[in-house]
Amino acid sequence: MNNIVFWGKKVVKAGLCTSFFGNISYRNDNKIFITKTGAMLDELADDDIVEVNVIDKSSSDKIASSELVVHRGIYQKTHYDHVIHTHSLFSTLMDKFEYYVSFDYSEVLPFLKKVPIVTGKSGTSILAKNVSEALNENPVVIVKGHGVFSAGQSFKECYIYLTALEHYSKDKYFRELLNE
Ligand SMILES: [Zn+2]
Repeated sequence: MNNIVFWGKKVVKAGLCTSFFGNISYRNDNKIFITKTGAMLDELADDDIVEVNVIDKSSSDKIASSELVVHRGIYQKTHYDHVIHTHSLFSTLMDKFEYYVSFDYSEVLPFLKKVPIVTGKSGTSILAKNVSEALNENPVVIVKGHGVFSAGQSFKECYIYLTALEHYSKDKYFRELLNE
């Protein structure tokens, strides 16, 4: 289901980001449908979604999310057609690990086996390159000091990756705190 409005509400409700920090998009052929810059994810209306091109830039780019460059990079360099970016708190805290973090539950959830941790400033082509390369290895990646990008063939897939990563990051965080 390509319902950005529905999934916007869901990611905020799940505590994966606050209304203003995150963005959602999907690709249809050579078009990207993405949340506008400054849109509140839990109160999206149809006119908070903007249509831009996968390849060519257009005048609509400047009203799209400031992370459009990263979404565009993902659609150009991977086979995915849905992307959700959040600022999941506990997942982002896993950035204390160097290049990737692995979780004990990866037998059931293989995407937790090796979650890449990448660097790059928000809204830059460097971040776009690093995130899209890492997504070719694993469908969910952590950006140091920033947040998480997940990609899939549906928003449901992205949501599963994000919620599982956040849950097990929280688990890892508290276990380490308790010196387990
Ligand atoms: Zn962000």
